[in-house]
Amino acid sequence: MKAVIVTVGTELLFGQTVDTNAVYLSQRLQLLGIDVMYRHTVGDNPARLRRILELSYDDCDLVICTGGLGPTQDDLTKEVVCEALGDVLIRHEETVEELNAFFKKLERPMTENNLRQAMLPSKALVFANHHGSAPGFVLENDGRTAICLPGPPREMKPMFEESAAPYLKTRSNATIYYRLIRTFGIGESMLETKISDLIDAQTDPTLATYAKEGECSIRIASKRNTMEEAKQAVADMLSVLRERIGEYIFSDDDEELAAVAVKKLIEGGISISCAESCTGGMFAQRLTDIPGVSAVFDRGFVTYSNNAKIEQLGVSPDTIEKYGAVSEETAREMVRGVKSVSGSRLAIAATGIAGPEGGTDEKPVGLVYIAGALDDREVCKRILLRGGSRGRIRVHAVLNMLFMVLKLIGEPASGNASRA
Ligand code: AMP
Ligand code: MG
Repeated sequence: MKAVIVTVGTELLFGQTVDTNAVYLSQRLQLLGIDVMYRHTVGDNPARLRRILELSYDDCDLVICTGGLGPTQDDLTKEVVCEALGDVLIRHEETVEELNAFFKKLERPMTENNLRQAMLPSKALVFANHHGSAPGFVLENDGRTAICLPGPPREMKPMFEESAAPYLKTRSNATIYYRLIRTFGIGESMLETKISDLIDAQTDPTLATYAKEGECSIRIASKRNTMEEAKQAVADMLSVLRERIGEYIFSDDDEELAAVAVKKLIEGGISISCAESCTGGMFAQRLTDIPGVSAVFDRGFVTYSNNAKIEQLGVSPDTIEKYGAVSEETAREMVRGVKSVSGSRLAIAATGIAGPEGGTDEKPVGLVYIAGALDDREVCKRILLRGGSRGRIRVHAVLNMLFMVLKLIGEPASGNASRA
């Protein structure tokens, strides 16, 4: 199936609203095996929308529109699409009832113009809106299919997933399987370099890399005749990736770093505590975002001042005096302190300079020391995020702390010195 995405709204053309719907739909359609041939954005203008629709059906069979389904005068998508596919609008009684219920729940009176939303093409399959008022629909006529979805992303996405995607699956005979592999500790350009031959040679499965704050993801997708073949092709490629970049992969199933860390802690029955300086409790927050963490998380210290590090964690004043609060020595003493106070098997500590002030040539803004200990094994890592804002530096520090948790659990103790 060949598709065109049309996002409707004058605010999109003005640049007031960022067109996130088009991106979302592009990604989802590709994964459904539907080729997106064009993307258009058009203002709330029926003549121009009509023109785009005519143009689209010249060489495509599916048009997906978002926006312009609301109750106000400028919402015209439905009328234009209906006309282009030779249908007429009729009052859809089920939608009238849903609108009544929707406004009753909000304890707001329904204004007359809201009933415009219940006027739908007579031959449409209507998609209920569980997150707003305007329903969507799919309409087919003579080899042309149109899907209309509401503009607000928080209504559009669930409607796409609940109604449009299942419909499209019945129309597409491609079998697609994909996995999202998540990596940490390797930049996107380095990642691409390491797998560039695979990317260059790709036909199926295809590989696509995406960079996110501190992380890189790789999507492996395969389009085959059967699901079994597609899954096998993805699994084979995953093995190749593991050989090349296995040390950076923390999930082969699109999981968050914190979720994987907590899962591994729970699986291993390993208790954890932390001491945070520059991250001010963000690590503890990330951990406690994950349900079930109470089985392993004991406590977190926010030891921002030197005094707190000394009093709460037993860091030696001499160490701070001699090496500074942001130093490997202090980070290591912090982690030993948390470990002995809490009795947790695993401890993590971070101390750094988040800026914007406080950096020196020797210790610039963005310098963070992270120390970790599992049983009697202890590690310390120096990270430097140059040019980062205070927020980014702190987020990167937390991600590095989480990754260190995984590394500590994942790498078996070696050598006599590190055995319990
Ligand atoms: P509408 O359905 O046209 O009334 O759109 C309602 C609201 O949805 C707009 O004011 C935007 O905030 C949002 N919206 C519409 N189209 C898009 C889009 N393509 N991407 C992101 N947001 C959108
Ligand atoms: Mg609009």
